[in-house]
Amino acid sequence: MLNQNYKERIINSINIFCKNINCSSCGGTYSFQTFTCEYCGSFNETLKKSYESISSLIPNLNKDNIDKEITLYLYKLINSSDIFNHALKQFDLTKDTKNIIKELETKVEYNDLDVKLLECIFSSDIFLDVDNVLRDVILRNVILRKNNLSKELIEKVINHLVLSDTRKISKDSRFYVRDLGDKVEGSAFYYYVYLDREVMDNFYDKGDISIFYVLPHEMMHTYRTYLESKGMVSSIYDVLALKEMLLREYNQDIYFNDKNYIKNLHECEANVFSYYAGTNYLRSLGFEIREESALKLSGVINNDLTRLDNPLREIEGELVNINDLFADFIKDKITLFHKYPQLHYEFKEEDGCIVYKSKNELVDEMIFQNKDTNMEEFYLSLIKNANDRESIKDKNDTLKS
Ligand SMILES: [Zn+2]
Ligand SMILES: [Zn+2]
Repeated sequence: MLNQNYKERIINSINIFCKNINCSSCGGTYSFQTFTCEYCGSFNETLKKSYESISSLIPNLNKDNIDKEITLYLYKLINSSDIFNHALKQFDLTKDTKNIIKELETKVEYNDLDVKLLECIFSSDIFLDVDNVLRDVILRNVILRKNNLSKELIEKVINHLVLSDTRKISKDSRFYVRDLGDKVEGSAFYYYVYLDREVMDNFYDKGDISIFYVLPHEMMHTYRTYLESKGMVSSIYDVLALKEMLLREYNQDIYFNDKNYIKNLHECEANVFSYYAGTNYLRSLGFEIREESALKLSGVINNDLTRLDNPLREIEGELVNINDLFADFIKDKITLFHKYPQLHYEFKEEDGCIVYKSKNELVDEMIFQNKDTNMEEFYLSLIKNANDRESIKDKNDTLKS
C-alpha cells in the first residue's frame, strides 16, 4: 500500500499538471524540454514543477500498490498528455478504469472511497465519453430519492450531462448554476448554459424532473449559436431564425416588449427540442412522462407549432412579415451582411446596397449547388419567395402604367 502522503502528492501533482497542459495565454501546447509554449513561447513554472514531481513519484508505483483512486488519476494523466505513457506502460489503465466505473454502476449507496472516485470522474473532461451509464444511474437515483451523494457532486454530474453534448460543438462550453431570478429557469449565452439554483435544488431535494426539460432548451440555444457562427444553413427555417435573431438584437424594443418573444423561432425550436429530448431521456431512465406534463414542462403548450416556418409576427397590433422587415433592415448594413454567409443565398451587394437576388439568379445558382436534397428544397423555397415578390411587383407596375 502507498502511504497517504504519497497518494496526496501524486493526485495533487496530476491535477495541477492536467490543469496546465495548455497555455493559458494562447491555448497552445508546451515543450516538455523547456516548458515553454510551442506557439507563444511563454514559460510555465507550475507545469514544470508538477511534471518533475510526477516523474519522481511514478517509479514507486507497481501493480500491487496502485489502488482504484490512483488508477483513475493515472488514466486522467495519460489521456491529458502522452508524455508519461512510456513510464506507465506496465499498467492497463483503460481496462482497470472501465472496471472501476462498471463496479460503481451497480451501487446505490456509496462509501467514502466511492465518493472520492466519483469526484475524480465527474470533475474531469477526460471522462465525458466513458461513463454515461454511471451518470444516468446516479441521476435516476436522485429522481427515485435514493441517493446519498452531496448536492455538490450531483451538480458535477449535471455539469457532465450538459458538457458531454455541448463540448461536441465547442470547447468553450460551460455550465453554471446561478440565481437567475423570478420565473427564469435557465439561460444560454454563447456556449454557456445557466441553470437557476431553484431548479437544481428542486431536483436534488425533491427529485423534480423539470431540470431535464430546462437543460435541453438552453442547449438548443447553444446549438443554434453554433450553426449561426459557422454560417450553416440546411433549410429556409435556418435563415428565418437568423433574420429573427438579428432583428431582435438590433430592435430589442419590438421583440422583448410584446408577445413575440415567447413565439419567436428560437424559443419555439428550443421548446420543441426540449419536449423530445427531455421526454426521451427520462424514458431511457425508465420513467414514462404523461403527454400533458411533457407539453407543459417543455413550454410547447404555449406555442403553435405551425409557426416554425411562418414569417408573420404581430407587432403593436399589426401583422408584419419577418422577411419584409429584414429586407428593409439589412439594405444599408454591408458589414453585417458579410459577417453572415447564410444571408448570401438570398441577398447580394449591389451599388453599395444589400438587395434580394432575382428569381433568375437563384435558378442559375441552384444548378451549381451540390446535389443535396436539403439544399435543393432550400433553393426551391427561396425561388418561390422571389417569384411571389416579383409577381407582386409586376402587378404593381402594371397598375401604375
Ligand atoms: Zn502560448
Ligand atoms: Zn429560450
